[in-house]
Amino acid sequence: MVLSEVRNDRVDTSVKPADEIKTTTCYMCACRCGIRVYLRDGKVRYIEGNRDHPVNKGVLCGKGSAGIMQHYSPARLDAPLLRVGPRGSGEFKKISWEEALDIATAWLGRVRTTNPSRLAFFTGRDQSQSLTGWWAIQFGTPNYAAHGGFCSVNMAAAGLYTFGGSFWEFGEPDWDLTRYFVLFGVAEDHGSNPIKIGLGKLKKRGAKVLAINPVRTGYGAVADEWLGIKPGTDGLLVAALIYELLRTNQVDLDYLVRYTNAHWLVIDEPGAADHGLFARDGEGRPLAWDSRSRTVLSADEPEIGPALSGRFSLPDGRKGVPSFELLVKRFLSPQHAPDAVAAETGIAANTIRRIAAELAHAAFKEEIRLDIPWTDWAGRRHEQMIGRPVSMHAMRGISAHSNGFHTARMIHILQILLGSIDCPGGFRYKPPYPKCIPPRLKPRGKPGHVTRNEPLGGPHLGFPTSPADLLIDDDGKPQRIDKAFSWDAPLAAHGLMHAVITNAALADPYPIDVLFMYMANMAWNSTMNTPAILQHLTAKDEKTGEYKIPKVIYADAYHSEMVSYSDLVLPDTTYLERWDCISLLDRPISEPDGPADAIRHPVVEPDRDVRGFQGVLIDLGWRLGLPGFTHADGSRRYPGGYPDYIVNHQRMPGVGPLAGWRGKDGSAFAVGDPNTRKLARYVAHGGFNVHHLTEHMRYSKHANRDYLEWAVDKSFLGDDNHLVFQLYVEALQRFRLAAEGHGAIQPPDHHRQRIATYFDPLPFWYPPLEGTMVAAEKYPMYAITQRPMHMYHSWGSQNAWLRQITAQNRLYMAREKGRQLGIADDDWVWITSNIGRVKAQVKLMEGVNPDTVWTWNAIGKRAGAWGLDREAPEATKGFLLNHLIAELLPEREGGYRYSNSDPVTGQAAWYDLRVAIEKAPAENDPRAEPRFEPLKPLGTGKDARVGVLAFGREFRDRT
Ligand code: SF4
Repeated sequence: MVLSEVRNDRVDTSVKPADEIKTTTCYMCACRCGIRVYLRDGKVRYIEGNRDHPVNKGVLCGKGSAGIMQHYSPARLDAPLLRVGPRGSGEFKKISWEEALDIATAWLGRVRTTNPSRLAFFTGRDQSQSLTGWWAIQFGTPNYAAHGGFCSVNMAAAGLYTFGGSFWEFGEPDWDLTRYFVLFGVAEDHGSNPIKIGLGKLKKRGAKVLAINPVRTGYGAVADEWLGIKPGTDGLLVAALIYELLRTNQVDLDYLVRYTNAHWLVIDEPGAADHGLFARDGEGRPLAWDSRSRTVLSADEPEIGPALSGRFSLPDGRKGVPSFELLVKRFLSPQHAPDAVAAETGIAANTIRRIAAELAHAAFKEEIRLDIPWTDWAGRRHEQMIGRPVSMHAMRGISAHSNGFHTARMIHILQILLGSIDCPGGFRYKPPYPKCIPPRLKPRGKPGHVTRNEPLGGPHLGFPTSPADLLIDDDGKPQRIDKAFSWDAPLAAHGLMHAVITNAALADPYPIDVLFMYMANMAWNSTMNTPAILQHLTAKDEKTGEYKIPKVIYADAYHSEMVSYSDLVLPDTTYLERWDCISLLDRPISEPDGPADAIRHPVVEPDRDVRGFQGVLIDLGWRLGLPGFTHADGSRRYPGGYPDYIVNHQRMPGVGPLAGWRGKDGSAFAVGDPNTRKLARYVAHGGFNVHHLTEHMRYSKHANRDYLEWAVDKSFLGDDNHLVFQLYVEALQRFRLAAEGHGAIQPPDHHRQRIATYFDPLPFWYPPLEGTMVAAEKYPMYAITQRPMHMYHSWGSQNAWLRQITAQNRLYMAREKGRQLGIADDDWVWITSNIGRVKAQVKLMEGVNPDTVWTWNAIGKRAGAWGLDREAPEATKGFLLNHLIAELLPEREGGYRYSNSDPVTGQAAWYDLRVAIEKAPAENDPRAEPRFEPLKPLGTGKDARVGVLAFGREFRDRT
């Protein structure tokens, strides 16, 4: 409604708000809500939530509304660009698409015909990874990943190796029935509207919300209780909660026997090559000790009465102990007692004991029984679904520590001990999850897999279960540029994008010829140690004078900092101008009660010389002659571009990017022939498809016969075997045995100790690595970032409406700490880490751990970028902590430097940072530091760098 439509306190309801309303999918954060876009005179006038959409049910957040200003941003690129000055100078000339594609084809073609490994193709917040990954497979490079290694691979890998699911895209709390919800760490970015809607339900019902986060902000602000934990000690707190549950005997042993490997016998022969592996029969089935028959039986026998403690003789004389006994020994040790962890975590022992008791009470004393009959994997009928109404959620706050994998494993084990996986009131899988534990995919890219002019022959990312799955040569040398799936990071299920530029510039393990990236602001806020990365991007070989990274191709919709460090820029459309596919093959938007997928379609036509990146990639695929995009006669496989691919591509027979309306007549779900009317059906249906499971398939999906059979039929699972939660992960022990000298594939000596330490089949807590490698007395404070509710990474902080909420980030610290350090509100301070220092302005507050400072992420901008004025607060007063975060850990013995990552998964350890804070001398007009040379504005967008953006006046004037 505009002002002119209000007359004398009356609202004129006859004004037509739009010429047309189109439904599509929001891209202002990762949630992918359904939106209705009001169009007037061919312009976007208004965006509202789609009430029918499964993700947001009509709710629209501030970011989603501000999509208008994202779409009309002055920072939009408007034509392909070719660098004409030195890299970083920002000197470009506009070129035609034909020229741009010719250049890209020549650069990429040369790599493919010589050595495909010399291409590193990495994408940022890409929501089309099933296409970008497929393209990279067809190209033949082993060097592909998206940004998961930045933010969430610890969560994803820990969950998939433990129970075949994870939080967010793979599952969520049962918001309707849970009675006790525990939220670990910052989560606002990866679960915006869905969590807000969920929290609203919990508050309405009076369910308890417990927030565990060093900072009380975001969702924690409305929690019933906040635990201001020290960063990186969540695992220790969870270990103490498990200690308390075990000590007070509040664990559902029947549930453990039914659904986990608690009773599987672990070989107990120290020093032997099979020590720590599961005892198995001749057919590979795990064994258990049956207390009734007093014999060793297959652990899968449905009516077994297995022992959960003791040491038993196996038929061949070896000894075995149930894995649960090992778990109890691990967690019932005195080091996990609440009194022992209180100082390290900053949480009082009595509080820990009370929380453990509350969790147990909610799970066991407030049990839920739903009268929904179902049949389990062994054919046993159950008359009710039993629920333990405790649920949890964690994302980046847990994930972005170097101990995040094991911490996330502990959270999942806590859920399992309470019996709250996929039950009423607990955590609930979202189909196509659960997956096999772990998924059976293995990474491709071993020596011999990469061949000139040939596809890779399989997916880049997967789930190793032994050293034989690693991508290394006979000397243990990594085969990928990011060293994923090597001894550096064996379970790097999402790759290590944060390591790519450093490794490429250092030619470690080898140099590359072309760095090809999409939507990844690696020259600024998506990178560690920004100054070093800028040096790497501009470093030249002294002998040849060539850049050490010879060619950089970059695709983005906006003038991000990375654009200036690129050689060829491919301008993308905004999310309202293009086709997209939110696919079950990729990162689904399902509900627990059924799988869902969605599309984006152009609601307005681009008014610039830009093209949707996905279509460009398909075009490049054909120009390069990649078999997935080219028929044998050389013609295009997808002449209609991305929409054509979405409709007709089949990853395997009958399975394509969209699951809805398959089959010639559109009547099939998930598996069926391509349907030429599919996109029209999606558009007509609001841009999404959701398939609802029948009631008896909705819970215990890991062991629900009807669900498992259905999931196989829909190609979500390879077989209908029930999925057994892995309290004890045998795969990790296989790596540890290799480090101890067993097997044909062993780590080089400098990796042995690290692998032996961190590849523990039971989770354990260790201090975040940076804190153990720098002097704690010199850098006494923890420094972390949080995500503003109203912004999503660097996009949001150039958005004209969202900037009005936050245009400068402050360094927040505890009021009492400020008093101790002589620092007052609005003072400027130096923040110093072991690699550099940053100057920032302080804001004191109450709700923060006293040893922690924090700031909003990605507000600070480099002057000249993003179509902002050089004197914009983001550029003069805003700052990034990234400049202080080391990309490599300090040297180990022998001079080797690991990336600053979790040693198991390679997850970037953003939140391990330790700093010192000191007051900066007073000065007139203080500014944030370091100050980088302003980037040359492109001035390519319409109205570039205007002072005030007044949107909507045109509609008002027309009325
Ligand atoms: S939560 Fe994210 S996807 Fe949903 S409306 Fe907000 S910005 Fe858009």
